[in-house]
Amino acid sequence: MRATEKEYGGRGKRLKELLRFVRERGEVSVEELLSEGFSRNLIRRALELEILEEDYRIETVPIKPQSLKEKKRVVLTPSQRNALRGILSERGPHLLFGVTGSGKMEVYLQAAKRVVESGKRVLILVPELLLTPELRSRIEDYFGKVGIFHGKLSRKEKVSAWLSALKGEYPVFIGTRQAVLLPVKDLGLIVVDEEQDSSYKEQQKPYYNAREVALKRGEIQGISTVLVSATPSVESFKRAKEGKLQLHHLKERVTSLPLPKMELIDLKEEERRGIFSEKLLRALERVIKDGKQALLYINRRGYFSRVFCLNCGFTAECKNCKVPLSYHKFKKLLICHVCGKRYRPVYRCPKCGKLLEFRGYGTERVEEEIRILHPEWRVVRLDLDTIKDPTRGAKVIKEIKEGKYDVIVGTNIAVKGHNFPKLSLVGILIADLLGGPPDFMSSERTFQSIIHSTGRAGRFIPGFAIVQAFNTELPSIRYAVNYDYEAFYEEELSFRKLLNYPPFKLGVLLEFLIKKREEFVELKESYENLKKRLSEFEFPKLSPAPIPKTSGMYRYLAFLRTDWENSLEKLKKLRKEVTSFPARFRVKIDVSPVRIT
Ligand SMILES: [Zn+2]
Ligand SMILES: [Zn+2]
Repeated sequence: MRATEKEYGGRGKRLKELLRFVRERGEVSVEELLSEGFSRNLIRRALELEILEEDYRIETVPIKPQSLKEKKRVVLTPSQRNALRGILSERGPHLLFGVTGSGKMEVYLQAAKRVVESGKRVLILVPELLLTPELRSRIEDYFGKVGIFHGKLSRKEKVSAWLSALKGEYPVFIGTRQAVLLPVKDLGLIVVDEEQDSSYKEQQKPYYNAREVALKRGEIQGISTVLVSATPSVESFKRAKEGKLQLHHLKERVTSLPLPKMELIDLKEEERRGIFSEKLLRALERVIKDGKQALLYINRRGYFSRVFCLNCGFTAECKNCKVPLSYHKFKKLLICHVCGKRYRPVYRCPKCGKLLEFRGYGTERVEEEIRILHPEWRVVRLDLDTIKDPTRGAKVIKEIKEGKYDVIVGTNIAVKGHNFPKLSLVGILIADLLGGPPDFMSSERTFQSIIHSTGRAGRFIPGFAIVQAFNTELPSIRYAVNYDYEAFYEEELSFRKLLNYPPFKLGVLLEFLIKKREEFVELKESYENLKKRLSEFEFPKLSPAPIPKTSGMYRYLAFLRTDWENSLEKLKKLRKEVTSFPARFRVKIDVSPVRIT
């Protein structure tokens, strides 16, 4: 059970309490709500009013798993065979690094098969968005029925999965990060697919990273852990270079299709209509004329991404989070993408009365503008707003696969987990946005995101990609467009080393929450004291977070760094010192964060 974006405007006191309770918890089971004293009737009422919703469960998506119809006996290429032999011959941590379409999955499934044949069991971890019926059926082609474990199961389902793992009911379990400690009987191998994915990191206490836990678990249990990726994380790449992970590099694709060729377009120079360069429009026309599909990728929902006043600088912001609101034209609302709060749109500046500017691009606007340019094209949007209703989401995905659309306008959801057989062109609209809020990991995210999204094209038919950017000089964009992994990692590592960033240092993000802004003076004093007592760490200036507020509290961040030596001792000391921090300030400790927002 969780809260929807809908606000409850009625008078029911208990309903308000229920909503507040669920919002605070994030996700709650019905049993928990009942034990908290909320009645079944009340919960039913909240569901009817759509202020609460049942969890979206991956299994129950009513989509017929489209089996890829692979023969169970696949002949491996020489480099796949080498990788397989390497993984099986040496127990320990491995990195299976291979370009999109190089048959990495085939290699780890074969390895898993050998492990199962020897009487052991296998745990395969995948990122949240990848745990689809399609993936499951592909793995079941090998092993028959497999076990499933992820955070969106009900408590009852979790208990039953946990017990079947203990009993050894299935040869293979697949799951998301929550599955990393699943007590699989006679575990013989752990696989972490798409190891670079940020969903392996738990974003609340205890902030663990399932990839790191998997490596440690493998070490403790004396079994192999295989990290798999087309774009390994900078950490894993460094470890492989130092010999801490055994590297198996698949350089060629197994299919006869080459990787999609990427063309970089400078949005400042190129002639364009709106956000579409003429080159992108020509390419779209060609692809659609041939009866193939194109995907336009932008990692932002809504219509306009910013509403502001040119006269006085006012920006429409969320009251809870202080971040700019996005305008959703379809719903005619301003929506906060951090907390989901909705606001009635304003058209005149509340400060000076001038008309407000609506700017920036989100999926809705891209969808509308492409429809205006080409009314004859069949366009569909695939983002969080589309798949919120799982039935509708599954229907849209099925229709895309069947070729009922020409153009897909989508976010991350569209570029992860699904194979669209007719997809021939991927257009990245604004590559500069892919790094997210700027921090030391931005260029890594940009690089990975370009390779992954464009890799959706040309998996079954020849494909190509057009990457539009305002700043075409960014090394992450340049290297990605040329598939120059080595150069990217070398440059990124030397940059991190020079500036003392992870993975060369251990990074710890401290988040401080205060109720009133005036308390900042005191917070700063306590922070300075903390700094004095923890000379092992390098302390930056305490600064407001990119998301400045959460549930009415002001957020301040400090990204501490230290050498890796004695890190456990240092972290223990840090935790102890933080506990003695004045009680009215809330402090969160995130070791090795994946985002600094
Ligand atoms: Zn104004
Ligand atoms: Zn908000």
